[in-house]
Amino acid sequence: MAAKEDYYKILGVAKDASKDEIKKAYRKMAVKYHPDKNPGDTAAEEKFKEATEAYEVLSDEDKRHKYDQFGHAAFGPGRGGGGAGGFGGVDLEEALRTFMGAFGGGGGGGSIFENFFGGGGGGRQNANRGADLRFDLEIDFEEAVFGSRRELSFNVQVECDECGGTGAEPGSKAETCSTCRGQGQVITSNGLFQMRQTCPDCRGTGKMIRNPCRKCNGSGQMRGKRSITLRIPPGVETGSRLRVAGKGAGGSQGAPSGDLYVILHVKEHSVFERHDLDLLINLPVPVTVATMGGEVEVPTLEGTTRIKIPAGTQNGKMLRLKNKGVKDPRGYGHGDLHIRVNVETPTHLGGKLKKIFEQFASMIGEEQHPQGRKFKKSMEEFARRRDELKKLTDKQS
Ligand SMILES: [Zn+2]
Ligand SMILES: [Zn+2]
Repeated sequence: MAAKEDYYKILGVAKDASKDEIKKAYRKMAVKYHPDKNPGDTAAEEKFKEATEAYEVLSDEDKRHKYDQFGHAAFGPGRGGGGAGGFGGVDLEEALRTFMGAFGGGGGGGSIFENFFGGGGGGRQNANRGADLRFDLEIDFEEAVFGSRRELSFNVQVECDECGGTGAEPGSKAETCSTCRGQGQVITSNGLFQMRQTCPDCRGTGKMIRNPCRKCNGSGQMRGKRSITLRIPPGVETGSRLRVAGKGAGGSQGAPSGDLYVILHVKEHSVFERHDLDLLINLPVPVTVATMGGEVEVPTLEGTTRIKIPAGTQNGKMLRLKNKGVKDPRGYGHGDLHIRVNVETPTHLGGKLKKIFEQFASMIGEEQHPQGRKFKKSMEEFARRRDELKKLTDKQS
């Protein structure tokens, strides 16, 4: 093999040329010798390939450093026994792709090559898809019942802002994996049958990165912040899970992001106690109303309503308002509102009120307190049996 020309000489730049100078020099040569401009001209094609090879090395800080130290030997014999010596296994297709990558052929230009190399096929295994994330969110009772909107932001792996998530150094481009032709899968055979496997060279991404982005080391990811607006539908409760597609961790090397799962935790409310779609309230009722009967105001989700308290209502009595509970988020009607009567006795009686109560107490008889009477009877029976049994056991001993 003939001695290779020095990369700096090929591009016509000084040994200490800046990145920009190298890029400019390459652009000039690449445009001049581009195959489109020189159809059938093998000498021009050769120059184009040479310049591309030189650019690939000199535009990459790592490779350039190695090249400065060891010359062409830095890149050893050909990769994968392809036969083409040195780093210069560059074929025309690769050179063209580097050219497109280096000069922003991303738009219209890129698509030609995608078609050409059969990239972007469906059904590719997504080994690099971002992780699904869990976000625990505390909301208040009102948000759970009426629905809400919340702005969430959290730190997560996101697309690298230097390379846009591709993992390729800006100015270069992830290339279609030649092993699987971008399919992400290869078909192997053991002689009996064929198997589909994730491509071992690109690990299923269908892409190869020659110049890894220096900021993210080619992963395409960096630590960043995601901000999303979460819509909380009415009727959710503790344990409800909301999925936000594509808002999990960013995928590596341009693969899709994972999903975000928001797990809701509903704070307790001082009035409404939630039991699935039913609600329970402990309703304070004045002792006078409980005794004589009357109407009291009851809070509901939509406002207030008035309910009748029958005369002689006891503490702890349960009442129910049908369909005044929480609306089913799936549209199956409403739960009920349960009311537990909580008879409230006056705590600061004085003066005239106290006198009235004293008078009341002297007048009221046992027949007005059947529960107390029944209770007293049970107690007396208990005491009688105790004494009876005591006598019985005393005799035995
Ligand atoms: Zn990057
Ligand atoms: Zn591959």
